[in-house]
Amino acid sequence: MRERLLKPFRAKGGVRVPHHKNTANLQSVVMPPPKQVVIPMLQHIGAPCKPTVKAGDKVLVGQVIGDTEAYMAAPVHASVSGTVKEITSILMPSGAPVEAVVIESDGRMEKADCAPPDVGTKENFLKAVRASGLVGLGGAGFPAHVKLNVPPDKEVDTLIVNAAECEPYITSDHREILENSWSVLSGVYAVKELLGIQRVIIAIENNKPDAIQLLSEIAGKEYDPKNEVRVMALKSVYPQGAEKILIRSCTGRKVPPGKLPADVGCIVMNVTSVAFLAQYLKTGLPLVSKRITVDGSAVQNPQNVIVPIGTSVSDVIGFCGGYKETPKKILYGGPMMGTALSDDRFPVLKQNNAVLAFGEKEAKLKEPSACIRCGCCMYVCPMNLLPVSLAQASEAKDMDKLEKYRVMTCIECGCCSYVCPANRHILQAIRLGKQYYKEHGKAGK
Ligand code: SF4
Ligand code: SF4
Repeated sequence: MRERLLKPFRAKGGVRVPHHKNTANLQSVVMPPPKQVVIPMLQHIGAPCKPTVKAGDKVLVGQVIGDTEAYMAAPVHASVSGTVKEITSILMPSGAPVEAVVIESDGRMEKADCAPPDVGTKENFLKAVRASGLVGLGGAGFPAHVKLNVPPDKEVDTLIVNAAECEPYITSDHREILENSWSVLSGVYAVKELLGIQRVIIAIENNKPDAIQLLSEIAGKEYDPKNEVRVMALKSVYPQGAEKILIRSCTGRKVPPGKLPADVGCIVMNVTSVAFLAQYLKTGLPLVSKRITVDGSAVQNPQNVIVPIGTSVSDVIGFCGGYKETPKKILYGGPMMGTALSDDRFPVLKQNNAVLAFGEKEAKLKEPSACIRCGCCMYVCPMNLLPVSLAQASEAKDMDKLEKYRVMTCIECGCCSYVCPANRHILQAIRLGKQYYKEHGKAGK
């Protein structure tokens, strides 16, 4: 196994966060279909889909219920069988209204006719990826067929499979590797072969030795005589799994501001996305369910649960034994980069990998005090920024300084806020600065 492990390049910055991987050793549990699911038409970066069904229609698992002509989008499928109750508008956590299809489940989970897609050519492969509804399952929601369609003027030589999972609490990718390792490897070889990519690096933080061992052993068998698929054990330093940081750790290459991984010869795919793709190529069943980590101090029985997409957070937490105490903070995703939810009525989306609920003690924000100019925020910033100056420019809405200090380079990892001894809400300020810059600066023109 040892010779299959690659050594990472040195990456700057980052912080050591407590792992809290409480669910890493628990087998995932499949949740029975809830009474109803609410499936938003926008679960990806890009244009929203339009519902292709109407109230009263009968639907089957895997049936298309929303699509669009737009390239930057992915179709949406029914996750349960039953009857469309209504087409409605719901508010997403950002406050933006989105159309959603509400389906009342008949409890039978009857599947639509699905057949393995024809992927004989690159064009057919990309069509199949789009039809599967796959988007980046690690949280970003970037349509997979767009990511895999590398423009002819760019040459990609490396596929990086992101299995870092550096956020505290989240173990859904880790469980995917342990429970579906063959799908992970099969997906890796499918993408590698169909896109003609020479080498694959499966990047995992070194706090998951069982996953590293398993993938190294399988990849080392006769399937890879040229030794092109290698595992890389990364240091457990947050935000190791952020795309640009990962590319630097795996290849030593730097993605310039405003550029994409393909500009430096890389494609980065989340490990669960790769495993899903392998299953889709075998069965033709689109993306209709998701494994999510349910954890946090307010949850009775933390575990990984495989749920139909569109199941409400309250139903998922109910399935995990309900709340131990009144939740004061509920998150889609991890505590560092997750999105806060105003309540638990929001549906589970394709790109969600965790739902965390915290009680009073963990949710309480510390009072900020004056900056003591210690420089800690600058030291940990993986993007080489000056977080304290950026926060000041954001608060002052100073466009010149926002530009000078490269506000759009911030990857919103939150390391600066995490280490600040004065508890300053640096990231919060920078996010507002980014928004202001997009609306009034060059990015918005
Ligand atoms: S400034 Fe942005 S990139 Fe740098 S540590 Fe803060 S949140 Fe992360
Ligand atoms: S870490 Fe906090 S106190 Fe230290 S320089 Fe940055 S903002 Fe100021």
